[in-house]
Amino acid sequence: MKQDFGIYIHIPFCVRKCLYCDFLSFACDKDAQEKYMEALYNEIKAFGPFIRNREVSSIFIGGGTPSVVEPRLLGRVLGFIKENYNVNPDAEITMELNPGTVNKEGLEEYKAMGINRLSMGLQAWQDRLLKIIGRIHTAKRFEESFFLAREAGFKNINVDLMLSLPSQTMEDVKETIEKVTALGPEHISAYSLIIEEGTPLKDMFDKGVYEEADEDTDRKMYHFACEMLEQKGYGRYEISNFAKKGFESRHNMLYWRTNEYKGFGLGASSYFNGERFHNTDNMEMYLNSSYDHNMIKEDTEKLTKEDKISEFMFMGMRMTKGVSKAEFYDRFGLTISDIFGEVIDKYKKMGMVCETEERVFLTSEGTDVSNVIFSEFLL
Ligand code: SF4
Repeated sequence: MKQDFGIYIHIPFCVRKCLYCDFLSFACDKDAQEKYMEALYNEIKAFGPFIRNREVSSIFIGGGTPSVVEPRLLGRVLGFIKENYNVNPDAEITMELNPGTVNKEGLEEYKAMGINRLSMGLQAWQDRLLKIIGRIHTAKRFEESFFLAREAGFKNINVDLMLSLPSQTMEDVKETIEKVTALGPEHISAYSLIIEEGTPLKDMFDKGVYEEADEDTDRKMYHFACEMLEQKGYGRYEISNFAKKGFESRHNMLYWRTNEYKGFGLGASSYFNGERFHNTDNMEMYLNSSYDHNMIKEDTEKLTKEDKISEFMFMGMRMTKGVSKAEFYDRFGLTISDIFGEVIDKYKKMGMVCETEERVFLTSEGTDVSNVIFSEFLL
């Protein structure tokens, strides 16, 4: 069976760091951005021969905030890929952007260079919450950017939301979902806040400035959001991702189905030729050596058959429709029950896993303890 192949492009720049963020991103001037984009171009150009036999079904330009970089620099990189790589004409090409970092002309340029999907970070509708987590925009700014994107012709837009934010109430979640769904984006993701070590928000929690949402509140908020989004026509297709019919993200699906992808840019991760690795996160090293992928490649791990089986199960079970028994057999020459029969039976009896003729998937109860269940698929 032919598998989708994806490309990820990392743009590590942001206007300012959000207080909860531990991604590889930072503020930086135009000159440094130009140098970085040149190095990125060199990396993509040099890697071309290794990728020519793959058909690219999705490209994801993420970060960071790709929209802080001048559109012409992104256009050059994307143009090279489209001209020199084997990109499917129907490929999903997504770009992340933050409200307040785009204007009409820029959006039209993104459209013209072939970007056909936007992913916008809103997180919450309440300006008080946006301020607490250090976002650079207000809800109004988001709304303006959303309308500009529609005017520029984008017909496939994702909006990112966050749950369990400091002082966020169920009423806040309700208002956020009402306002966002009224705009009619095609896709919505809703992740719970993870308090990461080393972030200013973690310090504030440690000092008692904010109180962490307890597990019970977090689960209630999540289920409330799921139900409300379903009612508004957004089907949940993965633990935290919702879409109108036919707008499930191809790039996301590729990760959850453990298909291969190549990441370009500072710190970008890849799964390529059966190996997982990432690029250096040292900017100087990246700028000087991006043309030689062996020099910037780090932490290479060749996956064993057991690793692949485990990943296929715990990533696949994130999806609402779960794992296909036929695909499992196709990939590994074994049935799911040969390997995981006991685990599946155990969780079926507890009402946390469901099994049909074709598939195995988590129930709603199983979703709440997904990490515990996933750990049982480790071989
Ligand atoms: S915009 Fe995104 S990548 Fe940038 S600091 Fe905020 S959360 Fe991190």
